[in-house]
Amino acid sequence: MAAERMDGADLANRIREEIAGEVSSFVSQTGVRPGLAAVLVGENPASQVYVRNKRKACQTVGIHDVLIQMPAATTQAELLAEVDRLNADPQIHGILVQLPLPTGLDELEVLDRIHPLKDVDGFHAENLGRLASGRPRLVPCTPLGVREMLIRTGIQTRGRHAVVVGRSNIVGKPMALLLLQKGPGGDATVTVAHTATPDLPSVTRQADILVVAAGRPEIVQADWVKPGAVVIDVGIHRKADGSLCGDVSPAVASVAGWLSPVPGGVGPMTVTMLLHNTLLAARLQTQASTPA
Ligand code: NAP
Repeated sequence: MAAERMDGADLANRIREEIAGEVSSFVSQTGVRPGLAAVLVGENPASQVYVRNKRKACQTVGIHDVLIQMPAATTQAELLAEVDRLNADPQIHGILVQLPLPTGLDELEVLDRIHPLKDVDGFHAENLGRLASGRPRLVPCTPLGVREMLIRTGIQTRGRHAVVVGRSNIVGKPMALLLLQKGPGGDATVTVAHTATPDLPSVTRQADILVVAAGRPEIVQADWVKPGAVVIDVGIHRKADGSLCGDVSPAVASVAGWLSPVPGGVGPMTVTMLLHNTLLAARLQTQASTPA
């Protein structure tokens, strides 16, 4: 039997409608419109598309959005000065520095310069540390989107074996930490695999829930998956013919119980969680500036 399709695009649209309503109530209650600044350095075409999609999504839910475009020759000092300016701007509640930055710029220093309450990507060491210590605040958008897909599809994670392939700070590690948290979408027994993991298929076959974020086109084959498993494909790649594929082979649909498609799976959920985080950041900053 073919796997059920975990439709991230449809879910994302429904969540965006909810967020639009919440933004509207927040504006009426506080007089503050949540604002997001996207900082794009250089001319990377994929980054330009990502930023355009994120800005469009902001507009659909009533979030004020600003694009800061900087040349590829921008220096570290100039970029840090721009982040400082946005940190001090009361109309901006979320700052997103689109990665990758051009060679020569220090990404970690830039990400750690963003005020932790404006860190809507959740990449600041303070926010990752809070997640690791079980006190999540602003959580990276892609793993947050995956967790939301699991919860809203009614997938039980408690007590189940989740295998995450990939240990990046952006996807794999925070994904594993979310699956480990106590509560909805968590309480799983978690294994994290990476390039030093021997015999990867024997590890992925143990998964009740398999999240693949390896960045390797269609690496996960049908015989890597336990029958009936929930498979979430985070990867996204453009093939030579221009079409998109993920880290999971389409043949996995004949074995899995659930499979998220590429495109139309995790991607739209990631953008939606950016909207969620921007509203959350605006709430946190509004509370922080309210006298006790
Ligand atoms: P990344 O930084 O390149 O990390 C890839 C991880 O996968 C690394 O930890 C690497 O292990 C591991 N890995 C690579 N090849 C492997 C193999 N053959 N066996 C086992 N582990 C392997 O990538 P990322 O930023 O996490 O992104 C992963 C994928 O998700 C990419 O395709 C990216 O485009 C996609 N992505 C999609 C979205 C979305 O919204 N849909 C968002 C973010 C990323 P080592 O640490 O040992 O090198």
